Amino acid sequence: MFFKDIAGHTRIKDNLLNTIKQKRISHAWIFTGPEGNGKLALAVAYAQYLSCENKGEKDSCGECISCRKYQKLIHPDLHFVYPVIKTKNFSKPISDNFAEIWRNFILKSSYHSFDNWLEDLETENQQAGIFAQESGEIIRKLNFKPYESEYKVMIIWLPEKMNISASNKLLKMIEEPPPKTIFILVSEDTEKIITTILSRVQMVKIPKLNKESMIESIKNKYDLSDDKIMEIVRISGGNFLKVEELVNNTEQNINSENYIWFTDLMRAAYGVKITELIKLTNEISQCGRELQKSFIEYSLQMLRENFILNINPENSNKIVFLTNKENDFSEKFNQFIHKDNIIEIVKEFTEAHNHIVRNGYSKLVFLDLALKTARLIKVKPQ
Ligand SMILES: [Zn+2]
Repeated sequence: MFFKDIAGHTRIKDNLLNTIKQKRISHAWIFTGPEGNGKLALAVAYAQYLSCENKGEKDSCGECISCRKYQKLIHPDLHFVYPVIKTKNFSKPISDNFAEIWRNFILKSSYHSFDNWLEDLETENQQAGIFAQESGEIIRKLNFKPYESEYKVMIIWLPEKMNISASNKLLKMIEEPPPKTIFILVSEDTEKIITTILSRVQMVKIPKLNKESMIESIKNKYDLSDDKIMEIVRISGGNFLKVEELVNNTEQNINSENYIWFTDLMRAAYGVKITELIKLTNEISQCGRELQKSFIEYSLQMLRENFILNINPENSNKIVFLTNKENDFSEKFNQFIHKDNIIEIVKEFTEAHNHIVRNGYSKLVFLDLALKTARLIKVKPQ
């Protein structure tokens, strides 16, 4: 993980980098702050930088052997502890029992929440926690010398979920740390951590993300209008997980808009209703280029699915991916997309896409596309 992938926190990142550059590395840290601010990713980015063999000014190199292992979270000197659940296979669970789910969870985003973790674990109301047996595991791992790096790093996510006996054993280890070992605790609720631990760790308070860094980060990541970005920033309240959720919803909204355009276009084309076709293509061409492209891409997908429905009605439920309402429309529509017009129609939509990408005059591009569709859709299968 890289510092650059985490929004904002410029000063905190600089301070953390300086502790490594100036060799002021604490042997036990606690990063605290609210959900969705990137603090777990910061802990991993810090550990990766510490271990990187070719450190840059502001970030790890991403190319050395250590970085490559870090990017898959398989470096032998990087250890994680996190809340887990009891399952049929693991009656005394430890973190490593869930390592693969954990790696996927961490790597899919720079922002993490306990609720999302429980979802990935597929809990059925079991209590998730860091149990007593975990401390034995921590001691065992930290007894070894570092394999490949100067330091071993143990990141403990949500130490507030640790049971009391595990907490006490952790305290002992922080008091008398094994050599070349760094603990990074990542917490959302320090009040639930025993004070003796808190008094022995260096605290880094990581606040919620500020407006400017959120706007910048959303702009870099997603293709949205300024208004939409402002709306998302407002609603998310400094929690980047909410941003990701809202953007996904926006994508769903775009798809339902595309659905309306697509079905309107096909109905008007079939009825050769020229006035409606003009009205519709005017509406589409008034939108931004990204939306126009997404409409064409959506149409190509719908055409493909309808063609498959047409030629393979028996197995369609396995190979066709449609929402319920798309399915309702396609049940009747698929008969018009067949082997004698699919190639031509796809060609026309693909060409329109190319024109839009190359800044073609969209009003003409879409009207032309609509009229060609009206002709092609009337082609009868031989
Ligand atoms: Zn590196």
